[in-house]
Amino acid sequence: MKKHSLRSKLIFHYMVIVVVCMLVIPTAISELLDRQFKSFANERLTGYMNELTEYFASTYAGNGSWRGDWLPRGADFLRWPLVAVRLTDADGRFVRSYSLMHKRGGPLRAPAGKGGRPSDNISYPNELQSGSRDILVEGQKVGELVFVWLPFNRSPEGDFLRKFNRIMYYAVAVMLIISAMIAIFMAYRISAPVLNAARRAQQISAGRYRMNEQMESDITELQTLIESVDRLGESLEAQEELRKRLLSDMAHELRNPITIIKSHLEAIEDGVWEASPERIRLTVSEVDRLSQLIYEAEKLTSIEGAGRALALEDTDASAVMEKAALVFDPLYKNKGVELKRDIEADVMLVMDGAKMRQVVENLLSNALRYTDAGGSVCFSMRGEAGGMVVTVSDSGIGIAAKDLPYIFERFYRTDVSRARSSGGLGIGLAIVKAIVEAHGGTIEADSVPGKGSRFIMKIPGKSRE
Ligand code: ADP
Repeated sequence: MKKHSLRSKLIFHYMVIVVVCMLVIPTAISELLDRQFKSFANERLTGYMNELTEYFASTYAGNGSWRGDWLPRGADFLRWPLVAVRLTDADGRFVRSYSLMHKRGGPLRAPAGKGGRPSDNISYPNELQSGSRDILVEGQKVGELVFVWLPFNRSPEGDFLRKFNRIMYYAVAVMLIISAMIAIFMAYRISAPVLNAARRAQQISAGRYRMNEQMESDITELQTLIESVDRLGESLEAQEELRKRLLSDMAHELRNPITIIKSHLEAIEDGVWEASPERIRLTVSEVDRLSQLIYEAEKLTSIEGAGRALALEDTDASAVMEKAALVFDPLYKNKGVELKRDIEADVMLVMDGAKMRQVVENLLSNALRYTDAGGSVCFSMRGEAGGMVVTVSDSGIGIAAKDLPYIFERFYRTDVSRARSSGGLGIGLAIVKAIVEAHGGTIEADSVPGKGSRFIMKIPGKSRE
């Protein structure tokens, strides 16, 4: 399909509308006026003809014949648009004629009365129109009048209409020019922010996430577009930043255990150290750290898959929660953190049990990770409106207010060095969120730094599709 620019499209459509309106409206006005004037002129002409017929009939009635002095001599009684009258008797014999036209088709004398234009002395015999009337006296035809008159376009009204139309079309032409200017102006106003947003999107796709100049539009939709593109850029920049941080963290994390393992093995090889069980255990623990890191890295790929392909089933949610807590009991005990639980029994829900367990385990694992020995974690679940509400609150280190909005984003860790020492990559909560949202639920966190954090997850009840 042939592509056009937004600007040219806008101008084109605007102009089409304007041209159509400007052709239709003046034509309609001109047609209407023409009809009105014509009918008015017709009525007037008929009036004159009736008047004259009346006059001849009544004077004939008084006289009883066409002979005599009573017939008018001059043609002064003729009024625009009448230019000639011919009178014949009942048998069609010529009696008299009155004319404003010079003989032999010569120039026309201006008819007297309203609209007479002495300067107009040009005759157009071909244009002339004529009609006749019988002169009746007591129902008997006593004669006939033949009227000759000028057509409408020679009348003052016709002249006025011509002038009016001319002025109107001049006005239309001027309006067209003004409209074209408005169309171009409007098209620029509308298309400029769109083009800018498009350009910005292109720059974003080329890796330039931030623009220095600030674009604004007073059109709400366009402002929304601009802001959306800006936000897109910012969030991509944030993602890019996180990705870079993750890679450097990963490299750093991998380098540490490998350096330790290598130096231990080399020392043993060189005979500097003896391969004592103690040293081998230390080396193995570094290998464990490596595999933990690789396990974490693997989890990255599961973020995308986490929300998809849920195996929804009627599930005993209470049992899922109990099992997750049971798995963590020994880990909590080892660290000296108390795991209190308050799980409502027999809450049945349509959900993906395995994935929901992964969610809860992530929350319990985080709570344990960020709570020091001697602290406690409360894990509660209760059924609500066919769904469930799960809360995990700890008495741990808490999360700073500035970090709270981002902890569910992948790779986000509140404190790089702290998270590093505890081995997380910042993807656990991203997976949690993906699974919760796939269930149509929500998860929120609040925290008092230094006092603890609380995660509240709400899963609505739904029927199995
Ligand atoms: P990680 O693997 O680093 O724990 P998560 O996605 O699970 O990644 O969590 C993201 C970040 O949120 C963590 O790095 C941590 O800083 C913070 N966080 C999560 N849970 C808690 C908690 N219970 N207490 C304090 N901080 C937490």
